[in-house]
Amino acid sequence: MNDRWMQGPQFLYMKEEDWPYTSRENYHAISEVVSVIPTSKFESWGKLLRVTAYVCRYMDALRGIKRENLALSSEVFQRAERVLYRHIQAESLLSELEFAASLRKVAKKTAQCSSIILSMKPYLNENGVMRSMSRINNAKWLNIYTRHPVILPDNNRATRLLIRHYHDKFRHIVVNEIRKKYFIPKLRQLLIRVRKHCFRCKMNVAKATPPEMAILPEVRVSAFTPPFSYSTVDYGGPFDIVHGRKIEKRWICLFTCLVTRAIHIEIAYTCSTDSFILCYRNFLCRRGTVRKMFSDRGTNFIGAEKLLKTT
Ligand SMILES: [Zn+2]
Repeated sequence: MNDRWMQGPQFLYMKEEDWPYTSRENYHAISEVVSVIPTSKFESWGKLLRVTAYVCRYMDALRGIKRENLALSSEVFQRAERVLYRHIQAESLLSELEFAASLRKVAKKTAQCSSIILSMKPYLNENGVMRSMSRINNAKWLNIYTRHPVILPDNNRATRLLIRHYHDKFRHIVVNEIRKKYFIPKLRQLLIRVRKHCFRCKMNVAKATPPEMAILPEVRVSAFTPPFSYSTVDYGGPFDIVHGRKIEKRWICLFTCLVTRAIHIEIAYTCSTDSFILCYRNFLCRRGTVRKMFSDRGTNFIGAEKLLKTT
C-alpha cells in the first residue's frame, strides 16, 4: 500500500498558502437539474419511500448532521413522504402549484389548471406541500391530514404506486383510507385499473368452471320400474356400539336405488360374505326383486356373488 493512501497527499503537510492552486476556469457549472429519485424505475411505493428516506439521510450527512441511530426513523420517513409529495406535485401539477402559491394571474394565463383541483382550494403549507383547504377545518378532533388532505395528481406514476400500496394494505376499504390523507381526482377509476392488474383480485372474482358432466347410464334413467330395481350397495363403518357391557363393532350396509335415489340401510355384524348375504336377504324381502346390483370389488361382495351363482 503506498504512502499516499495511508498518509494523504503531501501538500496537506505544508502551509495552506503553499498548497497547489488550480484555475477555476476549467470547471463547468451543471445547468441541467436531474431528479435524484427516478420514480419511474420503482415498482412499489414502499420501496420508493425507503429509498427517498435513505437519500434524505444522506443529505443530512452531507450537511454535517450526525445521527446516533443509523436505522431509518419515522421522522425520516415523514420527511421522505414530504419530498415525494413535492416531487409528484412539481412533476404533474405545476400550474396548480403556481395557483396555490397565489400566483393566480400566471395560473390563469397558462389556463392549464384542473378545475377539480382548484375547487378543492389548494394552498402551500409550511413544507411546500400543496394541500386542500377543506370545509371541515373546524373539526379539530380529526388529524391534519384529514382536514387538509395532500393533493396528488391522477396521471402520475408515483400516485398509482401509492394507490396500489393502499390497495394491498387495506383491500376493500381502500377509498376510505386514501381519503383520510390524500385528495386524488378520479380515485375510483384509478382503483378499478389497479384491481384489474391485481392477481389476487383476479383470483377472488374468478368463477370456477364446472367440469362437463357425462351422459347418465341407462339404469339411472329407466322409468316405470319399481324402486330398487337397479341398486348399488356399499359398506360404511365400523361404528362402535354398546352391547351389554361390551363395546362391539358394527357396519352399515347401505343400498341405494339408482333411479329414485332412495336408500335402505341394514346393520352388518361383520365384513364377511355371510354377514352381507344376511343383509341382502333382508333387503330383498323388504324391497322386492332386484334386476341389477352394482358394487365395488369388496371381497364380501365378490364372495356373495360366487355363492349365489353356485346355489
Ligand atoms: Zn387486489
